[in-house]
Formats: sequence, structure tokens, C-alpha cells
Amino acid sequence: MTGRGNNTYLLIADGEATLIDAGVGAPSHLTLIADALAEHDAKLTTVVVTHAHSDHVSGASALAAAYPSARFLKMPWPERDRQQQVRWYPLADGDLVHVGGDTLQVVHTPGHAPDHIALWHAPSRTIFAADLIVPGASVMIPSTRGGNLAAYLASLDRVRQLGAERLLPAHGAEVTDVDASVRVAIAHRVQRERQVLETLDAGHDTVPEITQTIYDGLSPARLPAAAENVRAHLEKLRNEGTVCEDKDRWRRVTARN
Ligand SMILES: [Zn+2]
Repeated sequence: MTGRGNNTYLLIADGEATLIDAGVGAPSHLTLIADALAEHDAKLTTVVVTHAHSDHVSGASALAAAYPSARFLKMPWPERDRQQQVRWYPLADGDLVHVGGDTLQVVHTPGHAPDHIALWHAPSRTIFAADLIVPGASVMIPSTRGGNLAAYLASLDRVRQLGAERLLPAHGAEVTDVDASVRVAIAHRVQRERQVLETLDAGHDTVPEITQTIYDGLSPARLPAAAENVRAHLEKLRNEGTVCEDKDRWRRVTARN
């Protein structure tokens, strides 16, 4: 699910360094960080974790062991956060994270995960977007584990309104046409929602059936993630009053038009 791996970002200013995302604790990652700090004669003071999915957070314990004076910051998701041997300093929407004399603003962007944040650097119009946008792929909305599609769409809209000119994702290459990339992500969900409703209208009324129909030919290993996305759409439609569910069977409640 992580494509070619994870991007973490090491920001260095005035002899201080802030790492965005902890990675998974791979020795090669720790070596790269140590080398970069040595090269710039900088001290790792802060680690900001964008959300508590394991590919972003599970390296925190190894980093804490290597850099005992570093502070670990994230928006709380208590049942997940206690899995790391780290003392977390809680972040909230609008908080400022200092990197030397520079600042990043915390932008709460739930949907992919309830604690998901992006970091906005206004002077360079750059957004560190974590898993809000994955270039060339659609972001998973794990609906049974804290994902929420309506929240995700609102988060996309919020980031679009910032007017970012550069988006640095946690997976994949940087994006320079941020507005187009966000529009593609929204259009994809609109199209998928239409598919879910069409599939429902065709008589498929359970999440597994709808998933099998829409994702025909998808490798079995990827079906559980696809089913999470389908459920995310159904839950959004239910909250909007378009569909309802009874004993895992879904149906429309509004007239078709
Ligand atoms: Zn994630």
C-alpha cells in the first residue's frame, strides 16, 4: 500500500532540524538522517508525525532512542499513539511548528485518518501533505478504522483554498500543479460515488458484492482496501440521506432521477 516507499522530509535551519514523519525505523533511513545532520552541523530537535499509520509513525521509537532530546509532535489519536515508546506533544489545528526561525502551520486534514495533518509553509506556498494526495493513485479511506470520506473531501477543499504551489506528499513525487491534482482527486471520488450508486441500483447490495463489481479484476490482496473505500462511499451517502443499511444490506432511500 505504500507504493515505492515513504517520503520523510528533513528541514534544517539555523542549526536545528525538524523531521516530518518518522518512517518505519529502517537502519538506512536513520543513517541518512545522521549523515544529513552531520553535513549541516545541525541537531534534530523536532519530529512531527502526520498521522498514526504505521508507515509514518513506527520509526518514532528508534528515533527517540537515537535522539533522546528530540520532541515528538502529532495530533492525538490516543489508542494508536500509545503503541510507540515516545512521549507525544499534542498538536492542534493552527499550531505553529518552528524550524529555526521559520514556521510551519498545522492544518488538520482528517479523512484518511482522524489525526491526519498537513504542514503549510506560507512563504514558499508549500504544503507537506502526507497522505492527503498520492500522485497517480487514490488515497485509501479506511472506513472501519477512522477513515471518513466526507471529511477527506473537506480536507482536500481546505488545502485547495490555501493556494499551494508545491505539494510534497508522503508517497510519490512532488506535485507542482496542486490545484489540478486536488481537482483530479475530487473528480475521482465523484465518479466512484456514481459507480457505487449504479451498482446498488443494479441489485448489488452488500459491500463485498459492490466491491467485486466495481473492482472487477483487482488482485485479491487489494480487495480489502477497495472494500474499505466502497464502505466509505456508502457511509457518506447514508449520512447524506441517500442510502440506508439494514443487516449489512444497503439500499437507496431517495427516488432516482
Ligand atoms: Zn496513511
